[in-house]
Amino acid sequence: HETFHVSVLGSGGVGKSALTLRFVKDYFVRDWDPTIEDAYRKTLEVQDQLCMLEILDTAGQDDFESLRAQWMMDKDGYIFVYAMDSRTSLHELQPFFELHLQINETKRNLPPIILVANKKDLVEQDPAKRQVTSEDGRRVAASYNAVYMETSALTGSNVNAIFEQFVIEARKK
Ligand code: GDP
Ligand code: MG
Repeated sequence: HETFHVSVLGSGGVGKSALTLRFVKDYFVRDWDPTIEDAYRKTLEVQDQLCMLEILDTAGQDDFESLRAQWMMDKDGYIFVYAMDSRTSLHELQPFFELHLQINETKRNLPPIILVANKKDLVEQDPAKRQVTSEDGRRVAASYNAVYMETSALTGSNVNAIFEQFVIEARKK
């Protein structure tokens, strides 16, 4: 059956591994090693059709563009993650977006991006911690031509939905 390759991208600490492992293994990892980069596979049914997702959970403080480009090469799309309690983490997605345009410029259709606002539980529990409004998130998503979704890897809220939505978008291309 069809296989889709997706990279999970974003600054350190936003919850890339927590979202990936919540989806793949259905548990929450509180203290996952921030340096571990790994690929995971999961079969899922979307729109009554089975498919395989191969997910690259990226890691690295490295600012080398070459590393980022490698993460983004030969993918069917991307999951961009920021944390709702960090405005910086939203801004830090910009270089990934620019690389996306460069790497995929010869493609007829650009691979899809899902823009994920994570740690919703945190800002719901303590609104003073919120640094990015939903409106701001949606605005950036629109400028990336991305689908906007809010998640909590801690509660699991909307986590399966981001991967399912990714498959729906990838099938349109
Ligand atoms: P990564 O560097 O992007 O892979 O981030 P991690 O997945 O390692 O998460 C960084 C920290 O944020 C860890 O302490 C996680 O437990 C925590 N974290 C991740 N997602 C959430 C979430 O949705 N809610 C809360 N409250 N904490 C989260
Ligand atoms: Mg990680």
